[in-house]
Amino acid sequence: MLHRSLVGGEWVDGDRRPNVNPARPDEVVSEYAEAGPDTARAAAEAAGAAQPGWARTPVAERMAVLDRIGTTILGRAEELAVLLAREEGKLLAEARGEVVRAGQTFRYYAHQLLQPQGEVYASTRDNVHAEVRRRPLGVVAVITPWNYPIAIPAWKVAPALAYGNAVVLKPAELVPASAGELAGIIAGSGLPPGVFNLVLGAGRTAGEALLTAPGVDGVSFTGGTGTGAHVARQCLAHGNKRFQLEMGGKNPLVVLDDADLEVAVRCALDGSFFSTGQRCTASSRLIVQDGIHDRFVAALADAARALTVGDPLDPRSQIGPVVSPQQLAQNLGYVAAGTAEGATVAAGGTSDGQFMRPTLLTGAHNGMRVAREEIFGPVSCVIRVGDLDEAIAVAADTRYGLSAGIVTTSLAAAERFKRDARAGIVTVNLPTAGTELHLPFGGTGDSNHGPREQGGYARDFYSVPVTCYTGW
Ligand code: NAD
Repeated sequence: MLHRSLVGGEWVDGDRRPNVNPARPDEVVSEYAEAGPDTARAAAEAAGAAQPGWARTPVAERMAVLDRIGTTILGRAEELAVLLAREEGKLLAEARGEVVRAGQTFRYYAHQLLQPQGEVYASTRDNVHAEVRRRPLGVVAVITPWNYPIAIPAWKVAPALAYGNAVVLKPAELVPASAGELAGIIAGSGLPPGVFNLVLGAGRTAGEALLTAPGVDGVSFTGGTGTGAHVARQCLAHGNKRFQLEMGGKNPLVVLDDADLEVAVRCALDGSFFSTGQRCTASSRLIVQDGIHDRFVAALADAARALTVGDPLDPRSQIGPVVSPQQLAQNLGYVAAGTAEGATVAAGGTSDGQFMRPTLLTGAHNGMRVAREEIFGPVSCVIRVGDLDEAIAVAADTRYGLSAGIVTTSLAAAERFKRDARAGIVTVNLPTAGTELHLPFGGTGDSNHGPREQGGYARDFYSVPVTCYTGW
């Protein structure tokens, strides 16, 4: 299987690169033709040429195209899920959920077009009509990470197309196959050539060319906080492009003394280790009150040791492989850094090939690197606190602010946490993530810049308000 870039409706060749299965590093899942900066610039130009026509395409036709894309994804869900699991290492069940979500996202935005698209105001002047209309942003570069290879492209591309923009998608280098299949589905949907383009290239070459291309009006980026800061600087320096950044996290899960122990362990186990801990919303700081601390740590360490780590296509597996040797080395490096700073390994800490055992570090505090820096692997640390006030303060003591959770049976504590937690997503007695496509998603602090993604909120990035006054 070979995937190529798509520019103005034409598939573009390039140097062949292998796409390997993280569960079996000697198995080549597919190949892709690597694109360079010239292809990225050509894609931006093709998008610029196609965008005005797409923006004027009647809503019913735009809806039909988006609906066809979503329906095709759903119809091919099993095949796409197997491919995703093989290239990224996500469990097949999780991959299925992700693909279905991507299909539903396209269908959701088809129907969003029937929602009100502007506002009417009373004018303070006689015989004047005042309204706020929306026009498309223009050409949008979509730059995505490897950990949700089809869902994140979908939740950016679908609203971008719905609101009349043209798109250049540049997915992460580790997951060209999911993006390549998505591009094939979009290309076969009846969308005019050039409205959607795909660039399969490296961030520092092809991605960089999109940040500096004069024809790109906006960049929707999801990835690491360091990369996001660079994206922001380039966007401001090259034509004052609009940008939206969704970045890293160091998400707290607070467990209070009054928590149901079973619920607390389930939330921590899922939030810390499922998806191999490779999610921006992973619960990587477990902030646990004194009275429940020892029972919670013992039960969670037992549960972590009982997890089956294995091939994503094996239905017995509960955790898949780490995505790459580089990521594995980083994870193990953090375990070493944690123990060097005084934390104890209560479970895991080792790996077998690219399969890392779920790792629990106890005796941590917020000054340690393992508690401050995003690890992006199946590694979580436990921080002991005395009361709710301390828990809220420790939870907020981070540069990030994506998601925050609490496990408690106290309504008052839950309400306090929802009010005071510094995060864009708050969960009570539920594992982290589990986002729903019609609700806004995003963080605060160094986890986010710009408007929220998903739901009706997505319109804020992909369209520009125009205030119109009409005298009569
Ligand atoms: P990354 O920052 O390394 O790469 C993200 C994307 O940016 C890739 O497509 C990459 O090729 C591109 N890129 C890199 N350098 C670039 C440059 N100079 N110009 C243009 N593009 C460039 O991130 P990653 O390793 O792919 O993903 C992991 C990170 O993503 C984690 O930090 C995680 O928390 C974050 N993430 C955040 C969310 C969220 O919604 N907040 C969701 C998923 C992942």
